[in-house]
Amino acid sequence: MYSGAWMMRASCGGIFDVAIVGGGAAGLAAAVFAGRRGARSVVVEKLSSPGRKLLAAGGGHCNVTNRAARDKFYAAFGRSGRFIAPALERFDNGSLEVFFSGLGVPLHSPDGFHVFPRSGKGADILDALLSECRRTGVEIVDNCRAEELLISDNAVLGVRTSAGEFRSKRVVISTGGMSYPELGSDGDGYRLAKSAGHSIVTPVPALVELHCPEKWVAGLAGVSLKDVELSVPGSRIKPRRGEFLFTHRGVSGPAVLDISGDVAGMVSENGLARLSINFMPGVSRMDLLAKFAEWRRSSGGVRIVNLLSALLPKSLAGVLCELSSVDFARASQMDSDSQNRLLENATGLTLNVNGTGGFAKAMLTKGGVSLKELDPRTLESRIVGGLHFAGEVLDLQGDCGGYNLQWAFSSGILAQGA
Ligand SMILES: Cc1cc2nc3c(=O)[nH]c(=O)nc-3n(C[C@H](O)[C@H](O)[C@H](O)COP(=O)(O)OP(=O)(O)OC[C@H]3O[C@@H](n4cnc5c(N)ncnc54)[C@H](O)[C@@H]3O)c2cc1C
Repeated sequence: MYSGAWMMRASCGGIFDVAIVGGGAAGLAAAVFAGRRGARSVVVEKLSSPGRKLLAAGGGHCNVTNRAARDKFYAAFGRSGRFIAPALERFDNGSLEVFFSGLGVPLHSPDGFHVFPRSGKGADILDALLSECRRTGVEIVDNCRAEELLISDNAVLGVRTSAGEFRSKRVVISTGGMSYPELGSDGDGYRLAKSAGHSIVTPVPALVELHCPEKWVAGLAGVSLKDVELSVPGSRIKPRRGEFLFTHRGVSGPAVLDISGDVAGMVSENGLARLSINFMPGVSRMDLLAKFAEWRRSSGGVRIVNLLSALLPKSLAGVLCELSSVDFARASQMDSDSQNRLLENATGLTLNVNGTGGFAKAMLTKGGVSLKELDPRTLESRIVGGLHFAGEVLDLQGDCGGYNLQWAFSSGILAQGA
């Protein structure tokens, strides 16, 4: 187990080749690669120990990456996906598996897609990074908050911290976004970026539960489905498909988490968003109408809710029948109006969304340092020379499933230099 004894305690700064602000996944990856190329490097970390989010990731198991092909990786980051291309070219998911295996932490993929440490312990990932920092001579200063960038003539000179000044011609900001602030990321990076003249795309919580005002939702809390399709009617937001869960206050599960940042953006602008849910994405409209006809023919005396329960969880079937005003009807009583109502609700039920779990419970921040002001080939600021950004602090968000940690590692490695 890692011991913090070798870390510098609130000391007095110094002169470095690379100063890294924030010891999360991005900052520690940057530090290891800077150390390996012989650069004199320091990580300043605000908390009493680095890498807290790595310990929390994947419920402690740390889903470090996945085995998606390059194009799928870009797609998982939405419209800005191509921005990550140079970072992935430098260090992709295959490189990451080789890297951790070389540090004595073999990875594996139990489902053939999501990749975890074989030990099942995220702590092993963190320990490996910290040991490699130590081996390569990287200094880590804990309990040290970066307060101000030192800039002169549009070039960075270092960073002023609660433990003194660290002079360096290259500074990497890897402070994370605003999600899970108790793990250290509370928006400091945006303040530092702004002070250097960068614009910040308004941060909103992402990979987060969505809250819905509909009263019936709480009654379904705990009900989950393996495959639903979610969309936002009248918007350009990409529909998402996958697992889904009702909660006491709304909806969650991987498909909801993936669409949540876009929906949270609409909620923050308009106070409300609408989410359309197809509970049967694998079944066509024609198939469902044929199913209803079969019910009428062969099970006319059976209540519709009981027949629908063969296709969907019983409690959800009950709610859908109630919303379609067929809760007491039998199959033989299904006229075309009731058929259409049930079909619409089963394949496109609209839920209102009026809030989210907030930054405290969001696994990611959507928004951040504008990509327009950065060179994707180096992640260097186009405004201040020598100032680089890596990880979640940028306006880039991937789907859940290992994309975000891969981005953090890849961008940190690119940002620290050649
Ligand atoms: C509960 C949870 C589970 C997750 N699970 C997964 C998962 O399994 N797979 C996945 O791909 N992604 C997962 N994510 C997302 C992923 O962990 C993050 O996207 C990623 O860790 C971001 O790395 P980062 O280095 O950019 O930022 P962070 O990990 O947030 O690190 C930023 C660091 O900077 C420090 N810092 C901030 N401000 C200052 C300052 N002014 N001075 C000095 N230091 C500062 C912070 O203390 C922190 O240590 C999860 C997130 C959460 C919250």
